[in-house]
Amino acid sequence: MPSKDNTTLPIIIVGGGIGGVATALALSRKGYAVQILEQAPELKEIGAGIQMPPNAFKAFKILGVLEDVQKNAAYPEKLVLGDMLTGKAVYQSPIDDEFVARFGYRYALLHRGDILEALLNGCRSSPLVTLTTNSKVVKFKEADDRVVVTTADGSTYEGRAMVAADGLWSESRATLFGSAPPTTDSYVLCRGVVPVKEIPQELYSQSVTMWGGPELDFFHYPLRRDQIFNIGASYRDPSVKFEDGYPRGNRDMMMERFRDACPHVKALLEHIDVSRAWVLYDRPPLKEWSKGRVTLLGDAAHPTYVYISQGACMALEDAIVLADMVDRHAAIEDAFLAYQKERYLRTARIQLTSRQFGEIYHAVGVQRELRNQLLANADPKGLHETLAWVFGDILPN
Ligand SMILES: Cc1cc2nc3c(=O)[nH]c(=O)nc-3n(C[C@H](O)[C@H](O)[C@H](O)COP(=O)(O)OP(=O)(O)OC[C@H]3O[C@@H](n4cnc5c(N)ncnc54)[C@H](O)[C@@H]3O)c2cc1C
Repeated sequence: MPSKDNTTLPIIIVGGGIGGVATALALSRKGYAVQILEQAPELKEIGAGIQMPPNAFKAFKILGVLEDVQKNAAYPEKLVLGDMLTGKAVYQSPIDDEFVARFGYRYALLHRGDILEALLNGCRSSPLVTLTTNSKVVKFKEADDRVVVTTADGSTYEGRAMVAADGLWSESRATLFGSAPPTTDSYVLCRGVVPVKEIPQELYSQSVTMWGGPELDFFHYPLRRDQIFNIGASYRDPSVKFEDGYPRGNRDMMMERFRDACPHVKALLEHIDVSRAWVLYDRPPLKEWSKGRVTLLGDAAHPTYVYISQGACMALEDAIVLADMVDRHAAIEDAFLAYQKERYLRTARIQLTSRQFGEIYHAVGVQRELRNQLLANADPKGLHETLAWVFGDILPN
């Protein structure tokens, strides 16, 4: 193994989201000092759910946080696609013992805050991780054997290298590769997070249910050991309003868009909170995202649509592969190139497949009819096969 050169300087990580914190933990577990710079006053995730297929769990295991993450998880029995207009299930895929035997872990439903907290607990127990909040990175430059990073308050930090995990709107990415904005089909998503006891029994389901509609979708699943019901409604709104930096939903528009939805979806729409919305974005795959001692990670490198629930999973996988490559290469520039090469096609395939799944969910007219007919006759376990490359274990031990 090459010697760990230049360890007097930490590796600087820009951004303390799931990707940045997972990277800090992965590197520290290999013996490298890291400095996280996060612009926000504290590290926190919005209080909503996230689906974590089995590939995320291999990453949690390597990071030493598996038990911490699992303690509050909920586990669905099935993945269901329903037709929003008829109110009927068109495809149901079991998450059974065979699934677990094949992919090593269950398919889990987690609270975002629980994931971040588990990763942060891991970081807190390492003397190699330094976390500084209220530190917006505004500039960085390479100088010989280091990167000099400047934050908005004028402070400078020197690092052996820099990992930009600064999310969808990454300014580091713009500096390195140009400032083209992310792409969107103008889908806006609003959420509801409701105690299960407030949901009438006939509307509750233990499965992950995605209701596909014409240019619409609606999903629900339980969280936190089945105590919370996580709901999401998505519709197109090219004129979405931003206030205080956040996009907002529009209840009148949402109700109009969902006017033909089945009674089940309409009843659950009541629980959707439109005061905060997410505009869904992705980007076309980027082939090269490392330059010298600087690389991108997570959404900064490969933001993806949400339709196969893999954005955060990719950030976790990135973190493991990056730490592994840093440990295997004497020169950090080589490590970053090797990491990018290892991740490029997998993350590109995730980005492209997510788009395709979105088209299936949002199908209109004859495409919707064909979807329903084809899926009605499909093998319930066909989805396991289709997504085996996603769920399977690709991480180094
Ligand atoms: C509605 C929705 C549902 C989703 N559902 C799923 C799902 O079910 N499963 C799944 O795997 N993924 C899902 N995702 C994707 C997932 O949320 C993201 O892929 C993941 O959070 C990306 O993590 P990240 O750390 O790369 O970026 P972020 O979480 O965006 O973190 C970036 C961090 O960098 C900080 N930052 C930005 N600029 C600077 C700067 N200049 N200086 C310092 N700090 C900075 C930000 O404040 C932030 O803390 C979903 C996404 C959305 C929008």
